[in-house]
Amino acid sequence: MYPEGDDRPHAVVIGSGFGGLAAAIRLGARGYRVTVLERRDQPGGRAYVYRQDGFTFDGGPTVITAPFLLEELWELCGKTMSDTIDMREVTPFYRIRFHDGKVFDYQGDPDVMREEIRKFNPDDVEGYERFLNMSQEIFETGFEKLAHVPFGKVLDMLKIAPAMVRLQSYRTVYSLVAKYIKDERLRQVFSFHPLLVGGNPFKTTSIYTLIAFLERKWGVHFPMGGTGVLVRGLVDLIEGQGNEVQLNTEVEEILVEQGRAAGVRLKGGQEVRADLVVSNADSAYLYKHLLPARYRKRWTDRKVDRARYSMSLFVWYFGTKRKYEDVAHHTILLGPRYKGLLDDIFEKKVLADDFSLYLHRPTATDPSLAPEGCEAFYVLSPVPHLDSGVDWEVERERYRKKIETYLSETVMPELGDNIVSSHVLDPIGFRDELLSVKGAAFGVEPVLTQSAYFRPHNKSEEIDRLFIVGAGTHPGAGVPGVLSSAKVLEQVLPEVEEILRERGQARVQAG
Ligand SMILES: Cc1cc2nc3c(=O)[nH]c(=O)nc-3n(C[C@H](O)[C@H](O)[C@H](O)COP(=O)(O)OP(=O)(O)OC[C@H]3O[C@@H](n4cnc5c(N)ncnc54)[C@H](O)[C@@H]3O)c2cc1C
Repeated sequence: MYPEGDDRPHAVVIGSGFGGLAAAIRLGARGYRVTVLERRDQPGGRAYVYRQDGFTFDGGPTVITAPFLLEELWELCGKTMSDTIDMREVTPFYRIRFHDGKVFDYQGDPDVMREEIRKFNPDDVEGYERFLNMSQEIFETGFEKLAHVPFGKVLDMLKIAPAMVRLQSYRTVYSLVAKYIKDERLRQVFSFHPLLVGGNPFKTTSIYTLIAFLERKWGVHFPMGGTGVLVRGLVDLIEGQGNEVQLNTEVEEILVEQGRAAGVRLKGGQEVRADLVVSNADSAYLYKHLLPARYRKRWTDRKVDRARYSMSLFVWYFGTKRKYEDVAHHTILLGPRYKGLLDDIFEKKVLADDFSLYLHRPTATDPSLAPEGCEAFYVLSPVPHLDSGVDWEVERERYRKKIETYLSETVMPELGDNIVSSHVLDPIGFRDELLSVKGAAFGVEPVLTQSAYFRPHNKSEEIDRLFIVGAGTHPGAGVPGVLSSAKVLEQVLPEVEEILRERGQARVQAG
């Protein structure tokens, strides 16, 4: 509890994903008293940690890029991240395995990258250099100038239009990559990144190619102890600011008084008063379920229902009683189809017979995440969101088994005989555990028509003193994206003094 007499303005943050935790730290650094309300029994949101049978399974993010965005949060609290978090660079960034068994090791070292590309198509080495230059240019505008600013007005959008045209943002990621790279397999290598933030490379704006430069410049990282230590570290910062994270506490409704957020009502009926509310809940869920329809002009139920949502994921966490030393920390196993599979997932919304997988082996970097002689893994398969109508109660075990068979036939021989721990998260879990509309794993899909101004705004356009952070607002999903969404708040939050002044005026009027 807060000390008696603590008269700092009070901010409530709904949800403790990376976006919510980062927002809480920024609010705390500004002088707010902050209460983070999280419905689950652990903080982290998609970065939930499953601990079972002696294994530690990071639930979600495993590829940590742009570490400086995290370091900034420690600095805001007068601390240094490296004092408590041991971040290791991961090489290769990704091992990409094609269906025919051929492998591409994707990494930061330009010489090694050139050699890898040459193995597939020597003519593409030069195209790759030009692609990286373009990616850098896009980064300099798309990330440095646009990711941390609010898009509250149409004018904000018009101002950036010329730059967007120059950077060819009307192209898709795949189409921009294809302009520079001829070999179809290399096109896949350089265009899969939007999938990490819920986008279809054939639909997502080419602005997302900035990830290639981001990774090349700052690398791909993994914290010793797993992503959960980052979550723990952020919660410690919040508590160090004299603030708190309350678990097992679900918000049911945002209280509105005179057009302003005035607090929240919890499941069970208790009210928590606040001077402002920041929502880190899925933005579609926020508007559909937490803010009553009478307060919504733009994000009506109809608009929320008609928006496009990212794909969902089938994630299988498993521990093995033997080691698989040949498996890289991050492996992407591409199936026989690329565009066809993505069409099935995003457009037709059917569960295909084939799949592409991402396999995580954290014990490659930190063996302490599994018991002696064992290894922790997760494998994920992008699948359509719940509009597919797939009955996951029926499909769950069949689909898991199919993935197990595929892994044992490719990179993990005799897998079936070595599994000693298992847990599955599927689209139903995204809907029921993370309260995501349609069970989408990354919220509103990142397409041009749902970006920046066209996404739910960081400063709500519906009522005053309501703010949004996380994957469903600007700039979007992924750990760097949601940390940036919290940074955008710096430009739209009221100063603490403003609220104290209002309180003073209210007291004068009342007295
Ligand atoms: C399997 C997986 C792998 C991923 N891998 C990567 C990766 O390698 N690198 C990367 O950068 N990104 C990755 N991502 C994406 C990234 O994890 C997410 O975009 C990001 O973590 C989302 O953060 P967020 O701030 O939007 O909050 P979320 O993580 O979505 O958390 C929101 C929180 O709000 C809580 N909440 C919701 N409603 C309420 C309510 N009414 N009351 C109280 N609490 C509520 C939820 O319980 C949840 O804890 C991955 C995502 C998944 C699912």
